[in-house]
Amino acid sequence: MQQKVAELEAKALAAVAAAADEAQLTELKVAYLGKKGEITQLSRMMGQLDAAERPAFGALVNQVKSSVEAAVAARMESLQAAARNARLQAETIDVTLPGARFTRGNRHILSLVQQQMEEIFIGLGYQVVQGPQVEYDYYNFEALNLPKDHPARDMQDSFYFSPNMLLRTHTSPVQARTMEKMQGRLPVMIISPGVVYRRDDDATHSPMFHQLEGLVIDKHVTFADLRGTLLAFARQMFGPEREVRLRPSYFPFTEPSAEVDISCFNCGGAGCRLCKGSGWIEILGSGQVHPRVLEMSGYDPEQCSGFAFGMGIERVAMLKYGITDLRLMFDNDVRFLNSF
Ligand SMILES: [Zn+2]
Repeated sequence: MQQKVAELEAKALAAVAAAADEAQLTELKVAYLGKKGEITQLSRMMGQLDAAERPAFGALVNQVKSSVEAAVAARMESLQAAARNARLQAETIDVTLPGARFTRGNRHILSLVQQQMEEIFIGLGYQVVQGPQVEYDYYNFEALNLPKDHPARDMQDSFYFSPNMLLRTHTSPVQARTMEKMQGRLPVMIISPGVVYRRDDDATHSPMFHQLEGLVIDKHVTFADLRGTLLAFARQMFGPEREVRLRPSYFPFTEPSAEVDISCFNCGGAGCRLCKGSGWIEILGSGQVHPRVLEMSGYDPEQCSGFAFGMGIERVAMLKYGITDLRLMFDNDVRFLNSF
């Protein structure tokens, strides 16, 4: 009887050791250790034994069962490891393949043009100053010689939060704030680029747009300095052959005031569609700072003078890059945005 058990154990262990894959091993496990498995069946032979022999036989069967179970588990592990290794060998990874590329963004056309403009003025010695977009009526209008009932306020239809607070309609309040902060010190030489808001919406106007304004105050600042500054800007921005032309105009915060045109960079002044045949393109408004504006901000108009200018960044971008509809710049169409 004991020899039969030993033979069965040897047979089972040999079969397990020879199992070629997991499926075959699972079959063997069922055949020997399953409910009707050969080793399991040994227990039934107990009945044929004398009572005295039973404990020893039971212990022997259990020991065989354990040894075959352990052999099955060990073989299963080695078969699984082999299968894993085979898979790793087959599925090689080419580490030299290029990875998935990130799409690299680029600057928005308006950021790009604003930076170009800032660089020109920084090169001329200007400081870049920022101010709040939600502004007091005082800084947006009154400190710029636009009292509450001034008719020129109608030129800048505004978004009001309260009678005394609005979304700034131009970057000029930054000038008023800067003068106030400087407390009469000279020189003042700043540009203030930024977002402004007006109730306009068509192909050349947007309720939100960008301006860049400049302000210079010092002793003996003349209109010639203004013209020279704008000529230097026009030539750096639109090409070294540009000329500027000043036409009389009106702004409440400057006196005298001038609209500034640059010679058309498209036709060189001969006349084309861009300049509507005139050879000139209007680019900005400017003037000598109004004596009352100087006074209100703590400067003595007898001791110093200054000039100011302001232009739309969208307009400069449209002119420089031949963009026909301002709204394209706010549509976020990447085909458009990627072309700069
Ligand atoms: Zn032209």
